[in-house]
Amino acid sequence: MKLKHLEMALQRLSGFSHPSAALEQYQTPAPLAARMLFHALMKGDISGKNVCDLGSGTGVLAIGAALLGAGHVRGVDIDKNAIEIAMANAALLDVEVEFIIADVRDAGLLTACCSSDTVIMNPPFGAQKAHADRPFIDIALTLAPVTYSIFNAGSAQFIETYIAERAEIDEHVGGVFPIKRTFSFHTRDIQEIGVEIVRLKRKYASNHAP
Ligand code: SAH
Repeated sequence: MKLKHLEMALQRLSGFSHPSAALEQYQTPAPLAARMLFHALMKGDISGKNVCDLGSGTGVLAIGAALLGAGHVRGVDIDKNAIEIAMANAALLDVEVEFIIADVRDAGLLTACCSSDTVIMNPPFGAQKAHADRPFIDIALTLAPVTYSIFNAGSAQFIETYIAERAEIDEHVGGVFPIKRTFSFHTRDIQEIGVEIVRLKRKYASNHAP
C-alpha cells in the first residue's frame, strides 16, 4: 500500500463522538498518522510484527498498522465509547484489531495481554494534567523494544532525560498536528501545533537489569 492510499483510507474513519478534554482525546489526522506508520514500516517495525497502540482512541494508528500488514494488532484505551467507534472503524476497513478497554497505568494487566514487537501511540501531551504522557512511556518501554510516539514539538530533550536509563531516542521527525476547535477553551477554528514523531529504542530487555 502506498502512503497516499493509507492516508486516504484513514481519512474515512470516524472520530470521537464525545471527545473528553480530560483524556486529551484528539484524533491523529490521517496525514500525520500515515507518515508515522510509513516511517515505522520502512524501518521494518510493522510488517509481520505484533503491534500495540496505547491510548488507541478511535483506532487510526492501530487500523493503519493492520492495513500495512502488521501481525497481531491490539489497541488499548480507557474509554469504552472510543473503543466502540474504533471497532466500527476497523470493520469499515475490513481489518482485524483486538481492542481492549484498560487503563495504561494497569501495568499488570498490560504486561499480561500486550507485550509486542512495536508500540505506536499518540499519548496525551499533558496539556490538561502535567506528565500525563509518562505512564504511556513507562508501559510502552515495558511492552516492546521499539516505540513510535507523537509528542509536542520541543519535548524530545525532556523525554530523553526521562527515559535515559531505559531507552534512547534514535530518531525524531518533525510534523504538524492541525487541531480543530473541539473544546470550549479552543479559541480558533483550527490551530496547528508542532509535533515530533519519535522512535524510542529500549536499551535492554525489560526482564534484565540495566
Ligand atoms: N491514538 C488515538 C487517540 C489519541 S488521543 C489517535 O491517534 O487518534 C489519546 C487517547 O488516550 C484517548 O483516546 C484517551 O481516551 C486515551 N487515554 C487517556 N488516558 C488513558 C489511560 N490512562 N489509559 C488508557 N487510555 C488513555
